[in-house]
Amino acid sequence: MNDAHHLSGQRFFAVINAGSSSLKYSLFAETDDGRLERKTDGGIEGIGSDKPYFIAYDDDKYKMDEHRWTTCEPLETLLAFLIEWIENFLAPNHLSAVGHRMLHGGTLYDEPIIVTPEILENLRTLVPLAPLHQPRILKVIDTLAARYPGLCQIVCFDTSFHKTNPPISRLYGLPQSLTDKGLQRYGFHGLSFEYVSMELKHIDMHAAMGKTIIAHLGSGASMCAMVGGKSVASTMGFSALDGLVMGTRCGQLDPGVILYLLQYENMNAHDLETLLYQESGLLGVSGISNDVRDLMASDDPAAKTALELFVYRVVRETGSLAAACGGLDAFVFTAGIGERSPEIRAAICEQLDWLGLELDERANRLGELKISTDTSPVSIWILPTFEELMIARHGARLSAQYERERQKKA
Ligand code: ADP
Repeated sequence: MNDAHHLSGQRFFAVINAGSSSLKYSLFAETDDGRLERKTDGGIEGIGSDKPYFIAYDDDKYKMDEHRWTTCEPLETLLAFLIEWIENFLAPNHLSAVGHRMLHGGTLYDEPIIVTPEILENLRTLVPLAPLHQPRILKVIDTLAARYPGLCQIVCFDTSFHKTNPPISRLYGLPQSLTDKGLQRYGFHGLSFEYVSMELKHIDMHAAMGKTIIAHLGSGASMCAMVGGKSVASTMGFSALDGLVMGTRCGQLDPGVILYLLQYENMNAHDLETLLYQESGLLGVSGISNDVRDLMASDDPAAKTALELFVYRVVRETGSLAAACGGLDAFVFTAGIGERSPEIRAAICEQLDWLGLELDERANRLGELKISTDTSPVSIWILPTFEELMIARHGARLSAQYERERQKKA
């Protein structure tokens, strides 16, 4: 499936995001001037249920196709349906590469890579670092490799952007023998931070190259401190549980709480995993919802408490990240909550006025690009993230390399 695009000249890249019960895709086309444009996106929801459901949108977000199954279908069948749908959409062109987002590169990988059988085996050794996420993605890669042996597959790691963190910031106060086994801080949401930091360079060089915090506030949430465009610290550590309070994840937690739960609440590792990943955060604190919109609309005092805690944790972590940077020049909001909730942004900025964040309330309400006053010592921005595009860009670069190597061998 790799050859026909040479005839047409145009290259196409699919990005596949394998979630716990979904397979999302985005399809990008390379333009004559080397940009990537999204042509369609969508995916299959309800994997594992007896009603999987496929939906596809065009680049204006209009529904262009859908399909329902009435029985539980194996992942292999659904993935084959998805790839065939993409191939039909592209015909007579073909996919140049498929890109995957992988949570953890561990200490093995700090750059996007082309998947080879050897790399695939190495990636399997990283499963214990992200047991909920990594196996799903590996299964998708395996299935595609078996069905389409010539297909170029690329893996991008959410940890890579933080490879520039100084060694001291990576250490936990644990014995060296455990650090050597990989028990250290990594940081996540790297593809989002990489994309936003690149965009910032087109918009404001001072913000892009100064001391800057990017707050990725979505259902998963973390913040990254950058100096000179490079990550120096982040709120997430060994796993994507640390740092901020998230939709259903707890965020920063005293390890003594884990010991207590093990010893006195009779919890085992599986119970803890469910509690900390799926039952905590905004959902756990409010008892109502993991969605900020629901909590905003609720009169229940627990909803208010959950939102207050979310803001409080962002503010506390900002102080810590500003210390890691040695000051602060710019603050960027991104992802679902960061991009779309003027109330949360206002509450955060209000509690950070001591650090020099002066919000322009009108610009914030309107969701403008720059939302700080002209005299604000720290500039404040809203920049939509686009992790899929970042993966497609890596895919375009690496698949060109893959083609060159293939032709050399031929
Ligand atoms: P992810 O990609 O991690 O699933 P997103 O970045 O899409 O998450 O963010 C999803 C979250 O954004 C939702 O759970 C919701 O809390 C929040 N959100 C989305 N739209 C709004 C809005 N208009 N106002 C407030 N919060 C919003």
